[in-house]
Amino acid sequence: MRRTQGRRDKMLKWNRPICPRIFKKVEGNKAKAGACVAMWSGGGKFQVSVGGHAQYIVDLELRTCPCSARDLQGWPCVHAIAAINYKGGLNVMDFVDDCYLTTTYLKIYDNLILPMNGMDMWDKSDFPPCLPPSYSKQPGRPRKCRNKEEREHKGKMKMRASSNQAETALSHIPNT
Ligand SMILES: [Zn+2]
Repeated sequence: MRRTQGRRDKMLKWNRPICPRIFKKVEGNKAKAGACVAMWSGGGKFQVSVGGHAQYIVDLELRTCPCSARDLQGWPCVHAIAAINYKGGLNVMDFVDDCYLTTTYLKIYDNLILPMNGMDMWDKSDFPPCLPPSYSKQPGRPRKCRNKEEREHKGKMKMRASSNQAETALSHIPNT
């Protein structure tokens, strides 16, 4: 509840049409779009070349670009922005999907979780209290620690015995 309220308050202060993270990405693409050269071929189709080597067909009506960034992400890629800027009058923000709009975000966080009184103010019930379910061990990963064999235990005991014997033997040697 606190998180929901915090996010909503934060976004109410944001005065851009799209959410902050996507806004930053679109602004970054806008800056890079200056290096692209767009040529209009008719309708919504453009040919966008980058650095004289790479060339892309951008369709603003279908909102597609072969770099696939536009199709997958939901906001215009560098090449799409170059095509949008070619015509002028078009707003880059109009090509961002509705799910990234600030209004959509606020609509999602509009339905707050209903507040609730503390446990001491809850109605008392005559029914017996709910008990946790009985525990049964579920099948899972094998144990990390291996089971030691019988002789390994014996060997350990022998070591102890032998060290005790050595101590006993040393105690019999007179100090010089
Ligand atoms: Zn592209």
